[in-house]
Amino acid sequence: MLKHSLLIALFAGISYAGAQTKFQPQDTEFYEPVPRVVNTKANTAPSDAIVLFDGTNLSEWVSEKDGSSQAPWTIKDNILTVKPGTGGIQTKKNFEDFQLHIEWKSPEVIKGEGQGRGNSGLFLQGKYELQILDNDDNKTYTNGQAGSLYKQSPPLVEVRKPESGWHTYDVLYTAPRFNKDGHLIKRASVTVLHNGVVVQYNTELQGTTEYIGLPKMIAHGAGPISLQDHGDLVSFRNIWIREL
Ligand code: MG
Repeated sequence: MLKHSLLIALFAGISYAGAQTKFQPQDTEFYEPVPRVVNTKANTAPSDAIVLFDGTNLSEWVSEKDGSSQAPWTIKDNILTVKPGTGGIQTKKNFEDFQLHIEWKSPEVIKGEGQGRGNSGLFLQGKYELQILDNDDNKTYTNGQAGSLYKQSPPLVEVRKPESGWHTYDVLYTAPRFNKDGHLIKRASVTVLHNGVVVQYNTELQGTTEYIGLPKMIAHGAGPISLQDHGDLVSFRNIWIREL
């Protein structure tokens, strides 16, 4: 108890006159709580992750159109691809704060310009779009390029396509907090690594990511992860999430 009270005092910035000189190494070491064990393996979801897509089926997803019918996108060779015109897909489960991993690839055939080239999107809680776009040598507004929080925050840097063509996004997301009257207490914040490079760093969301007009701040609870059908044959693999 004494040890903990000293630690708390130190963390709170309270100085004990002369206390530092009386410390033993073990006074600042503790053994509880014990972190849960998580096993990891290259290119595989951590052992405690919820696997959203492992190449086999879309059992964790539904159509965004009605939120209940089977997700209509195509799976071939363990890869998920947008089926243009069928609308977005969303997870059955809803999430608050999370760590998410997703891999995506632009269409093989390069066509279109700007927002019309390899466009999809990862929607956090179904409301906030992390843009997916074929960026390479394709000029568009910077707050709409890959790695942007759509029309709010451009990426810190432009990360180019790797040789394999497969991009990764690793997202750390803290949901916004609202009080019981629906007033905002704390904005959502997002950190994104694009192919391992930080492109959003604790970026605060101003509200929904609107195509036209300003962000809307709408009170909400847990929400799904959704993927956008923007009419392009964008592919996905290895999607998992860990609730925080
Ligand atoms: Mg998009």
